[in-house]
Amino acid sequence: MDSLFPTSPSDAAPPATGRYARIAVERGLDSAPEGLTYASPWPDLEVGERVEVPLGRGDRRTGGIVVAVGGDELLGALKPRGIKPIANRVGAKLPEPLVRLALWMAEYYVCPLGMVLAGMMPSAVKHRVGRHVEKLVEVSPDAPAADEEFKPRLPEATLEAWKGILALDAGAMPAEPRALAIRLGLASIGPINRLVARGLLRRVERESVRSRSQAASLEFLGNTAPRPELNPAQAAAVGGISSTLGSFGVHLLFGVTGSGKTEVYLRVIEHALAAGRSALVLVPEIALTPQTAGRFLDRFGGVAGAAGRGVAVLHSGLSAGERHRQWAMAAGGLARVVVGVRSAVFAPIANLGVIVVDEEHDSSFKQDQLPRYHGRDVAIKRAQVEACPVVLGSATPSLESWSNATHTDPPTPPPLRILGNGGSPGGGRVSGPNSPNSVDSHPPRAKYRLWRLPDRVGAGRLPEVRIVDMSEERRKGVLMGEGRVGAMIGPTLSGALRDTLAVGGQAILLLNRRGYATHICCASPACGWTLLCHACDAALVLHKSANLPRGGVVRCHHCLGEQLVPDRCPVCSRALSRLGTGTQRVEEDLSAMGLDAGSLLRVDSDSMETARDYFDALSRFSRGDIRVLLGTQMVAKGLDFPNVRLVGVLSGDTSLHVPDFRAGERTFQLICQVAGRAGRGEHAGLVIVQTMSPREPAIVLASHHDYESFARAELATRVACGLPPATRMARVVTRDEDHAAALQHAQRVATAMRELVEGPESRADATGVPGLSSVVVMGPVDCAVGRIAGQYRVAVEVLAPTAGILRHLLSALRSDKLLKSDAHTAVDVDPVSLM
Ligand code: ADP
Ligand code: ZN
Ligand code: ZN
Repeated sequence: MDSLFPTSPSDAAPPATGRYARIAVERGLDSAPEGLTYASPWPDLEVGERVEVPLGRGDRRTGGIVVAVGGDELLGALKPRGIKPIANRVGAKLPEPLVRLALWMAEYYVCPLGMVLAGMMPSAVKHRVGRHVEKLVEVSPDAPAADEEFKPRLPEATLEAWKGILALDAGAMPAEPRALAIRLGLASIGPINRLVARGLLRRVERESVRSRSQAASLEFLGNTAPRPELNPAQAAAVGGISSTLGSFGVHLLFGVTGSGKTEVYLRVIEHALAAGRSALVLVPEIALTPQTAGRFLDRFGGVAGAAGRGVAVLHSGLSAGERHRQWAMAAGGLARVVVGVRSAVFAPIANLGVIVVDEEHDSSFKQDQLPRYHGRDVAIKRAQVEACPVVLGSATPSLESWSNATHTDPPTPPPLRILGNGGSPGGGRVSGPNSPNSVDSHPPRAKYRLWRLPDRVGAGRLPEVRIVDMSEERRKGVLMGEGRVGAMIGPTLSGALRDTLAVGGQAILLLNRRGYATHICCASPACGWTLLCHACDAALVLHKSANLPRGGVVRCHHCLGEQLVPDRCPVCSRALSRLGTGTQRVEEDLSAMGLDAGSLLRVDSDSMETARDYFDALSRFSRGDIRVLLGTQMVAKGLDFPNVRLVGVLSGDTSLHVPDFRAGERTFQLICQVAGRAGRGEHAGLVIVQTMSPREPAIVLASHHDYESFARAELATRVACGLPPATRMARVVTRDEDHAAALQHAQRVATAMRELVEGPESRADATGVPGLSSVVVMGPVDCAVGRIAGQYRVAVEVLAPTAGILRHLLSALRSDKLLKSDAHTAVDVDPVSLM
């Protein structure tokens, strides 16, 4: 199935018309926030087009996106004679709303506009991988419909061909000349060429994108569940959300695992399609399983077809050509539903009717490099730009979304004078010129509408969750792995596993630690040597591999550096201990327990190198060839297999003891999510959570599936400590090979922030910026991982009462050139990871 691009206007450009364009070049230029001005030789140049422009000394050709077109008003103080012309139109284009979205992102996330725009277009699209130009013929528009008047002038074979062409179906043209000749039963293409020469046919070019791996999207098929009858809670959500199609609004769909959230998305999308609009669905990277994608493909007409009801799928496992093809399908209107991961929020789909963000709490929606955006928050902003509703779904909503859906606005503060539209998507006030919520006369109400799906569909029940005290288990002895220190499967879990397998059930075991051993140290306590990465402040992790010398490598999980496994302590020459169990070692322990190797599969980013490996693993599990899946959080999300009767969380503590105020929230989410994989079929599910902290509230409340109590307590703590979502955070990390330089740089940033916070603008009278004086600046302080890949890392954190105030502060620093996102400075607004 090929998709069409408009054929790009080429070299034959008309002479310069005196029009200008602003171009955001794909460079980290922060000095020209609205782009650089160039002359446009093309009167039809549009906002969003990708072009090449001469830049800098030597006029190097540099890619960029048109962000504005116009006349003299774009010149500002520039003289027309000094303006260089755009060198080339590339032929790829972003829809105009995405350019507006980029302008917002560049400001909100403190990122140069050109880099935001560069990140919106996949490089496969920029380089037009798989682009194919077909040379076709079609009936010329001025050819008379009747053949009569040509009779005397055409040779017989040519006349026959012409008659044949006129008798063809409407859809048969344009056609490839050789294929047309065969279809008409001609011996050669001679007659077709003569028809072209006579002006009856004309040559046209059609651009399409082809990829060798077109099957990639097809193999998602095969999930043909009937369209179920909605239960009352689902019907209420579908009705409520669908009634708001056509205007911006945020809906939080809070439904326990297996409550039928996906069915709600599907129905809302049906309504949007029926209204002639399109839809965008975002899912976390590892939740984009064949199952998830299959349900959308199944409902919405499978592979994109001419009827324009197809589905485009965008995930990280696509080849470059396939990515370009899927993108072009969305851009060309062949796909009206796009399902994809984080970056699919920039899918070039027009006429959006609804955006869905599934598992909205998932941290994989946050990009950890420039631009450091949050896919959920950008989705909310995009919905605002496109004036459509956005549905956030989760069994364990982020506290940001939960507080927006349950807390009413505090009494409206006086409008901020100079902050303009300080609206922000994720929390704060969702306000803006186009937003219905910006009207101040509303009675106090929650910013998001909340829809609950409190029960599993049908007769399904949430699984029983048992917390198992690991120190107790250790005392009982006989841990798998013969009582060795660090053995990870206690007698309770191993008993449950045997029982489950004995009755034909399947199990999922979660351990969020890759590798074999996470610490390699000297066996002599007196020596205490530990193997550390030479470039990072981190221990190296042992990964076993049978075909490597000494049975494996040690790898740094931060800089990905590798080295050979040392065989003795370099300090005292004693033997080495391998501590800290990872998934590889558990795999070994399970085999030792007698679990047949063929029925166990380890799923982590080491064993699953490609998306294909992962999809294969899931289909083997779904067929029952595999009985036990052991893995990292790759096994925790989105999987829906009815025969999973046991879920084991090997260590409920891995995410608990990290220096991050969201540690409890993450632990709660992870346990709830993985527990949600159990008991989705007719058999009841059992979940066993092994932990050293059996009374930890996050773990206890997760075992009761009690999200609301957890959220209430956790929000109270955040409010008391002034942490998000009660406040808004930004984090600046400075990096340098020289620690003193990193520290000094961070010190400058912190001082500049404090001066602003304490300066004249923070006055309480009418000249001040309300709330600015309550901003808290923390640091500089060394990051939890103080050095990565040879770069020391120092952080400054800032907490502001609202997003508007935070934005004011960051913009002020930025325009004073005190803050810039570059190789030495990472500015992270609404950070998700604080390492
Ligand atoms: P969630 O996304 O909340 O985890 P799903 O949408 O995956 O839940 O639904 C779980 C299962 O229940 C799916 O197999 C789905 O087809 C089925 N299902 C959803 N809604 C209904 C319904 N109203 N009646 C019967 N089955 C349903
Ligand atoms: Zn390292
Ligand atoms: Zn030693």
